[in-house]
Amino acid sequence: MTKFSFYRCSVCGKEYSPDEITYTCPVDGGNLDVIFDYASLREKTSPNQITGSNEPSIWRYLPLLPVDDPGYSGSALHSVGWTPLYRPDRIAAEVNLNQLWIKDDGRNPTASFKDRASAIVIARAKEIKAEVVVTASTGNAGAALAGMAAAAHHQAVIFAPKSAPPAKVAQLLVFGAKVFLVDGNYDQAFDLSIEAANTYGWYCRNTGYNPFTVEGKKTAAFEIWEQVITKNSLQKPLCIFVSVGDGNIISGIHKGFKDLLALGWIDQMPRIFGVQSEGSSAIANAFELGTEKITPVSANTLADSISVDLPRDGLRALRAATQTNGAYVKVADKAILEAIATLGREGIFAEPAAATATAGLKKAVADGLISGDDPVLVLNTGSGLKDVKAAEQAVDPAPIIEPTLAALKKIMG
Ligand SMILES: *Cc1c(COP(=O)(O)O)cnc(C)c1O
Ligand SMILES: [Zn+2]
Repeated sequence: MTKFSFYRCSVCGKEYSPDEITYTCPVDGGNLDVIFDYASLREKTSPNQITGSNEPSIWRYLPLLPVDDPGYSGSALHSVGWTPLYRPDRIAAEVNLNQLWIKDDGRNPTASFKDRASAIVIARAKEIKAEVVVTASTGNAGAALAGMAAAAHHQAVIFAPKSAPPAKVAQLLVFGAKVFLVDGNYDQAFDLSIEAANTYGWYCRNTGYNPFTVEGKKTAAFEIWEQVITKNSLQKPLCIFVSVGDGNIISGIHKGFKDLLALGWIDQMPRIFGVQSEGSSAIANAFELGTEKITPVSANTLADSISVDLPRDGLRALRAATQTNGAYVKVADKAILEAIATLGREGIFAEPAAATATAGLKKAVADGLISGDDPVLVLNTGSGLKDVKAAEQAVDPAPIIEPTLAALKKIMG
């Protein structure tokens, strides 16, 4: 028995039974949404049951997830999610907002938001008895899969571009994954990983391909609901800022709130804002043109985790903004580096792709997309320790001095 009712194609709307299909719509390659029997869920569980849980991880939402408990309690698999929430007063003052929160998903076990997806995919792999799980990754999805697979004693295979930051590659190797560094970009690694999965019979976690990644990522929406929406009487819809590459995180946030709306646990959708680098902006371009046709770009940005030619979840990512009265904004790499420093001064260490969301908030305020009385939450998707070279570009280097007070005095002036 599966815990969900059916899959529905996000492109053509065709429905498929859970055992009929593994990845995307056979007709048009569209991403599949996992649809539940919401009436029966409403009978089986309640907001109070969820908010009363003392499980400090994504598994507090087990009744709303399409998998059974993966077991392996006491492992890293059980510490994903329930990430901290901050009130960054300086940033709020700088952008003139009355209510601002930052949710720090760099605090996940492998230091990025991707753990949410990988934990669910590993749970699914266990259910369908898949021994080997493969993914293409710019680094974080791979590190998350490798880490969660290690915790559950599954084998992971990772295809990453050879340009991936060294810290991410080191994580893959330390977690014991079989790692292939592809002499090409992420998009080429993506295509190769699917061919490899088909050839060797591996279960493929790829973002914007495997329908379960969004089901893991939606847990962040549930946490935002519990941590912010139920705890504050917001006068206006919460505005949520998310950095976007393939578009799977933003689709997951949207799906989580759609689930809550279908359950009748919220009465209005938050507004969802996607942020892309100017150098990797295929979805933001479509938003600007007012079309659902997403044209690939030739991506070039220092924010490696969102450097994507063809977003694999572009359509749903676009709709996350268009269907919630949100928007897409584009930011320059220079603004991303500035945002790393801005977050740093609040005690938050972000990798470039993560800081992109904060850069997008500044841009949205400057462009008048949101106003001072809009409550805002920024999702910080990954830790700065993932990409130390980029962090160094965001700040001035420290002076090297002789170990004498005289030398210090000279510099102090
Ligand atoms: C993957 C990733 C993103 C973007 O997620 P998509 O689903 O590709 O849009 C943003 N930030 C970080 C740190 C990531 O690892
Ligand atoms: Zn379809």
